[in-house]
Amino acid sequence: MIVDVGPLLRGEVKRLELDYLLSPQPMDGIVFDSDARVTGYLTDSAGYMRLHLKAELNYHGECARCLAPVDGVFSLDFERTVTVEGTLTEEQLDEMSDEYVVLSGSELDVDEPLREELLLGFPFRLLCSDDCLGLCPRCGKPKREGECGCPTKEIDPRLAVLKTFFDNDGEEEKN
Ligand SMILES: [Zn+2]
Ligand SMILES: [Zn+2]
Repeated sequence: MIVDVGPLLRGEVKRLELDYLLSPQPMDGIVFDSDARVTGYLTDSAGYMRLHLKAELNYHGECARCLAPVDGVFSLDFERTVTVEGTLTEEQLDEMSDEYVVLSGSELDVDEPLREELLLGFPFRLLCSDDCLGLCPRCGKPKREGECGCPTKEIDPRLAVLKTFFDNDGEEEKN
């Protein structure tokens, strides 16, 4: 959403409330519920302007290990300092883009910092549970569903030579 911060700039108000619905863009493999409620406020104290935003995004994706559907809520709660265009160099902004948001005239695009925070903070590997065992590499059955009967001691042929070596080594020690 584009917010007109004119009243703040002109000193007519000290605080602007924000409350709107955002339609987040789907990300790679992630679908968001159509609308997320964003709340927050802009404050101005003697020309020092701060933006505070909160949002909760319901998402749907799949487990990176077993492909089971994963639903979750991603919470955002952050603050930025609002700076007038031209105050900071491009370089400074690149380095501190997580601290500043740039005002264009009297208009502030509050979706932009939201998108940035989302990209920075969103887990790019979703798991159905931290200890998800994934899929059987041979038959593709999720391991949490129990034994599939596939041989588990499958060894990479490149490592087979080493295994033979160590097995022989072990036998020699026993003798
Ligand atoms: Zn899983
Ligand atoms: Zn299997």
